[in-house]
Amino acid sequence: MRLCNVCPEEERWRAFPAWGPEPPAPAGTSWRALMGRALRLARRAARLGEVPVGALVVDFEGRVLAGAHNETETSHDPTAHAEVLALRRAAAAAGNHRLGGCVLVVTLEPCLMCTGAIREARVAGVVFGASDARAGAVCSCLEGLDYAQTGAAPWSYGGVEARACAGLLQEFFRARR
Ligand SMILES: [Zn+2]
Repeated sequence: MRLCNVCPEEERWRAFPAWGPEPPAPAGTSWRALMGRALRLARRAARLGEVPVGALVVDFEGRVLAGAHNETETSHDPTAHAEVLALRRAAAAAGNHRLGGCVLVVTLEPCLMCTGAIREARVAGVVFGASDARAGAVCSCLEGLDYAQTGAAPWSYGGVEARACAGLLQEFFRARR
């Protein structure tokens, strides 16, 4: 059972036994600053009529390998979620389909498809902004990072700039109604 820091009914912090309460951000940056960059990508998505979700892959030295936003509408691709595109581009940039030592930073709790991709990429951890009560597969609806018996599950840390991340989505869907 995954215990996370955004589910108040659960015991806080136990998902990060090796990290303590908050996983340390790469040197010279902070999770909030990185989430700010992901939010900029999300805002760009909104301007294109895409669901405003942004993601980036950062390595342990704080280098951003790749960033992406949702492109399902523009590319007519149901799998073109920000996380999948960011992982794909980061792996291409690294010349390696394994992204061990990297962290995925994303404005919204990943869905089941994306948690699968995150596991396949072998990233060390996931930092997300808003939780997704309808489809979140880190802790809200199910625990997609933990299902497989192979390898270690990535750690997760949610709630970074959650209000801004959720606000952007609410604003987007309100305008579309
Ligand atoms: Zn997804």
